[in-house]
Amino acid sequence: MSDTFNHEMVQLARESRGWTQTQLSKQSGLTQGFISRLEAGEKDASEEKIAALAGALGYPESFFFQRGSYEGFGLSMVFYRKRAKTKVKNLKVLQAEKNIRKMQLQRLLDSVDVFTNHRFPSMDIDEHDGAVESIASLVRANWQLPLGPVNNLIQSIERAGGVVYRFDFGTKDIDALSEWPEGMPPLFYLNSKAPMDRARFSLAHELGHIVMHHTASDTMEREADRFAAEFLMPAKQIKSQLESIDIKKAARLKPYWRVSMQALIYRARDLGQITPTQFTSLYKRLGHLGYRKTEPNPISPEHPKLLNKVFSVFENTNEFSYSDMAKLFCVTESELPRYRPDRGGLRIA
Ligand SMILES: [Zn+2]
Repeated sequence: MSDTFNHEMVQLARESRGWTQTQLSKQSGLTQGFISRLEAGEKDASEEKIAALAGALGYPESFFFQRGSYEGFGLSMVFYRKRAKTKVKNLKVLQAEKNIRKMQLQRLLDSVDVFTNHRFPSMDIDEHDGAVESIASLVRANWQLPLGPVNNLIQSIERAGGVVYRFDFGTKDIDALSEWPEGMPPLFYLNSKAPMDRARFSLAHELGHIVMHHTASDTMEREADRFAAEFLMPAKQIKSQLESIDIKKAARLKPYWRVSMQALIYRARDLGQITPTQFTSLYKRLGHLGYRKTEPNPISPEHPKLLNKVFSVFENTNEFSYSDMAKLFCVTESELPRYRPDRGGLRIA
């Protein structure tokens, strides 16, 4: 927190509520012109006006005194923007939610010593001759993952020192996002509305970006997919199981590998265990059965635990109360539970 009013936080607060400047004007009684100039940093806000904004937006006044700037999605969204299916309003809410969590974590890191080191390698894809698969194996080796499926991807990322947030993105078009801010651990955001099998693949895809990509390229999406496939389904360990795969076999393998039937069928094709023609017919069959939208046999969910533990420490100590936590997070006490890393998670007693 600082003593200086941060005009970028007005836009952040407003967009987190999904409001336009006009809506904020109506709710706060301030003119739209004033709000526009305030957000642009051309106007200062008096104490009364700050109180009016805070009241309308449902944040404590301290929200507007947070340090930092309001940042966009970065590399994660290059691909999604191209699809441009999601409403801009929903994207803005998601963008704001991501920023709010990142600033909260930053302050948490300043006040408690939780993440002293991490085991996130950074590997230049050119130095590996574009061998994405060998990078995926190196990360598995680095993290000492046992042979076979990754039983709990969120836990593996947390053990390596990454932070995973799982919350409702307000849209079904985006499964996961990631970023590696300067001086912080890598951050992963997972849509709680995505089916777990697909969410795991998307999370592994984001892991690929974090490890391999530092600038955007035309090939980055395909590379991140290849990384995810090899990370979750290592060729050497899965290949023989994918021989002449059909729908039944895919359904059987799904709970073991904890990936979608669709991902298994793609993998079988890429590893040459079915012909392109067989792949096409299986893919059509998935569509006819409605499995491309919703697959049967959902796998059990994975929950982030790391920051929930931090929350529970705060909740159970007399020295640092729940209301102190809300103050640190610059949100009201009633809204604090929303900012647990997994808001669908159980309250740890
Ligand atoms: Zn991507």
